[in-house]
Amino acid sequence: MKTTLRKAIHQVDVMMAPLILSAVKEQNALNTYLFHALFRDEEELALNCCDPQQQVTVDTFRRFVAYHKSKGYTFVSPVDVLKGLDPDERYVMITFDDGYYNNLRALPILEEFNVPALFFISANHVRKGKAFWWDVAYREGKKAGMSDAAIDLEKEHLLTLTDDAIDSYLTRKYGPACFTPIGETDRPLTPDELNKFAQHPLVHIGNHTCDHAVLPNYNAAGIKEQIAKAQDILEDIVGYRPITIAYPCGEFNDTVLKVCREENIKLGITTQHAKNFSPQLYEPTNLLTLNRFTIWGKEDLISQCDFYRSDFHVLDKMKGMIKRLKAKV
Ligand SMILES: [Zn+2]
Repeated sequence: MKTTLRKAIHQVDVMMAPLILSAVKEQNALNTYLFHALFRDEEELALNCCDPQQQVTVDTFRRFVAYHKSKGYTFVSPVDVLKGLDPDERYVMITFDDGYYNNLRALPILEEFNVPALFFISANHVRKGKAFWWDVAYREGKKAGMSDAAIDLEKEHLLTLTDDAIDSYLTRKYGPACFTPIGETDRPLTPDELNKFAQHPLVHIGNHTCDHAVLPNYNAAGIKEQIAKAQDILEDIVGYRPITIAYPCGEFNDTVLKVCREENIKLGITTQHAKNFSPQLYEPTNLLTLNRFTIWGKEDLISQCDFYRSDFHVLDKMKGMIKRLKAKV
């Protein structure tokens, strides 16, 4: 389907969502949400010192939690999910990927509403205090006068590489110092900060590989190393072996799932935009490929939340129709 048509239908779906929610009871499910960096405010975002990603500020995050509380959602941790959820309830699980220092800003909000969150940590970034490659590519690219489109294109290429190859590429282009974080906005947590953070009862720590590895770019040995070593490093820092993983960039394959089972990882989270329904939620295989929605700071928050909660999307119906027609040809 053409992008412009797809965007137009999506807009119709977004506009219709509040009406659908007021007319039809939404299906009970576990809705998992993805956040990355948590910017202090618009001013910090405007500094351009790191990839703006979803451009989510502390205020947006607070409104996100307040919205779901007001709609009667129960916030759960991975431990709650593994104990089994009540099929008659609606749930939210909050997740943050990567291990940014700025994720500490979520804590007062988690405490205010008494809700848990799951933080997926790229272990070597914390251990080495190394900046994330996408922030380096964005910051240095901007300094060098690259357009946003050119930076996006470069990032697309880097996503097909292993972490070693990405490091070599950016070091060759911008020099070895480029991986030194420039401040509180782009730096990862230190091991001490992570250790303290992880002791908080509302904070749960998960695996995000050693080097933020896009796992299908690695062979079987590489996949094993990226997942197992991250388990070791995180255990060393936080005192326990994670039982959850978020696949960097949502990418996984059969070898990845096999390694997760070997490492006793029980919950795996993708970036597939969908709710997690019961009873699929209780199949052990499905628990390693949970769906997750992304929140965008520059889009209207309530419209996005309504859209994700609504169970009727014209775009999905059309995609399904096209798929069925293609299968018949
Ligand atoms: Zn990530």
